[in-house]
Amino acid sequence: MTGADPIAQARAEIVRHGRSLFERGLATGSSGNLSILLDDGSMLLTPTDASLGGLEPDRIAHVTAEGAHVSGDLPSKEAFLHRAIYAARPHARGVVHLHATHSAAVSCMDGLDASDCLPPLTAYQVMKIGRLPLIPYHPPGDRSLAGRIAAIAVDHPAVLLANHGPIVAGASLRQAMNAIEELEESAKLFLLLRGVPTRPLDAGQIADLETRFGRANDR
Ligand code: ZN
Repeated sequence: MTGADPIAQARAEIVRHGRSLFERGLATGSSGNLSILLDDGSMLLTPTDASLGGLEPDRIAHVTAEGAHVSGDLPSKEAFLHRAIYAARPHARGVVHLHATHSAAVSCMDGLDASDCLPPLTAYQVMKIGRLPLIPYHPPGDRSLAGRIAAIAVDHPAVLLANHGPIVAGASLRQAMNAIEELEESAKLFLLLRGVPTRPLDAGQIADLETRFGRANDR
């Protein structure tokens, strides 16, 4: 890897992860977007109206920290969500947003706790996601959503957008991928267990995990 072009590497990584998400049914149609933040503050992001299953490296959008388009196709219309998360989380280098079925289903449920909308079912959910805030519905492209996300993402690597889907940050794109896949599986467990007497992890078990492995927020 030494001496390899970091932009070419990042483009290839986005293509690889996008295809993986699409082939496993975690992204359908032209939904979902992935980004990598580079050291100079510029961002590589999946293009607008692109299927994650058929991305091409040279068409991944490259935009400067100021939002100017450098190369590739035009970026996803949801680019401003990625920017909001990177601004809120200085150590984040990768962001993934999906309309994945189970987490999107949870995002449509009534009566959720907006400060923490999934019960802590498993240790890996607690370790990779932590508490999951729910952000109220905004129509596509509504820029006021950026402010809501930025304020909440300071304390949370993952948020759920109501009637929409999750957006998750990580110290790398791989880490963000792992976390959003854990979130989708947790949402699936939550839905499978609806109506079944369930024993979520208790406050003591969660505190023990944070002592052993750190808080999800710090990732
Ligand atoms: Zn979306």
